Amino acid sequence: MKILICNVGSTSLKYRLLDMGDGERSLAWGKAERVGSEESTFAHDDLQGGRVRLTASFPTHREAIQEMLRCLEGVTPQEEIACVGFKVVHAKGVTGVQLLEEPVLQAMEAYNSVAPAHNPPYLAAIRLFAQLMPHTPLIGSFETGFHATMPPEAYLYSLPAELCREEGIRRYGFHGASHEYVSQWVAAAMGRSDLRLVSCHLGGSGSLCAVKDGRSIDTSLGFSLQCGVMHNNRIGDIDPFITFYLMEAKGMSPQEIKELYSKKSGFYGMSGGISNDLRDIEAAAAQGNQDAQNAVNSYAYQIKKYIGSYAAAMGGLDAIAFAGGIGENSAQVRQKALTGLEFLGVRLDPEKNAAPQPGDDLSQEGAPVRIYVVATNEELIVARKAAAWLEAHPDVRAGDR
Ligand code: ADP
Repeated sequence: MKILICNVGSTSLKYRLLDMGDGERSLAWGKAERVGSEESTFAHDDLQGGRVRLTASFPTHREAIQEMLRCLEGVTPQEEIACVGFKVVHAKGVTGVQLLEEPVLQAMEAYNSVAPAHNPPYLAAIRLFAQLMPHTPLIGSFETGFHATMPPEAYLYSLPAELCREEGIRRYGFHGASHEYVSQWVAAAMGRSDLRLVSCHLGGSGSLCAVKDGRSIDTSLGFSLQCGVMHNNRIGDIDPFITFYLMEAKGMSPQEIKELYSKKSGFYGMSGGISNDLRDIEAAAAQGNQDAQNAVNSYAYQIKKYIGSYAAAMGGLDAIAFAGGIGENSAQVRQKALTGLEFLGVRLDPEKNAAPQPGDDLSQEGAPVRIYVVATNEELIVARKAAAWLEAHPDVRAGDR
């Protein structure tokens, strides 16, 4: 079964065609960037040696999808693509794996304001796919799905129960595909599934997840992606009354505060506007910039607190795994976050931590808690889920839509 996985950003489209029946082999992959500009870039590679590099004007995702489909024609006929799988983010009252038809798309639309950076571009792109690949099922694996196993005490907020039920206000959690991949990887590496694991997906957007016996029991993102540990330019956990204080004392409008929290906070805001990128903040911190040092130190401290609280929630700890651009690459963040957790059995080996390869165990010989760096593979999780969904729904086949 051949499955096309597409990752949609506000100005990008990334894709990978996988042959699930042939060792989950990648047949083709590529990306369009700067979609919406005069100088969009497009790159495609495939196993048959196909290679395309071009700069063109892609005013919308439509042109990027058309270019991708042109390139894929040389790899496999469109009717052999069993489905297109999407790592969709959030929908009101809907989670798990879903056929992306109008009711589900409308449920995503209902949470556009909760996931403003993610839902609108996905919706626009999915509707274009429906036009451009009219006979191919479009399947979404929601990022909230892995966290559906959280118990009520982890997902309920202390707001009036009726209001929460009416509006679907609760902790949902995100980065489900990554946490699922990481937890499966760690279980395979340790040869056991009865694990108390903290999975740390730390990228431009970050979350931690307490995974007990392979199931999410708590996670740091909530109703939206605007909480937990800080993100590149998005805020993490704060006191909600800061919002009202800003309205009253500074006369800020809800829109201005939304912009502040979702675009001007996190590393960017805390560092005094140095950058969205942790590498730049670490460099400025090394040169003595106090705000940059505060940003790095607070970030690591927040991670440490989540690890400690999740160890408490799980009754101990067997492993910690780091994934994402920061989790894989920032030795400093790992070291600062784990220092002080020795009382839990966490003992990081400074030499192994300095420049690890994906898959390495960074813990000291004989330490009770394993510390892994994992190259996450969200596409593979989405492809497996889409394949399983299709197998369970033999009535839905390519060509039938
Ligand atoms: P996204 O959430 O956008 O998918 P990534 O997982 O690609 O993000 O991670 C992006 C983040 O990883 C950026 O903040 C970047 O600074 C950080 N990063 C990448 N390489 C390094 C590195 N060598 N040291 C520190 N941070 C890094």
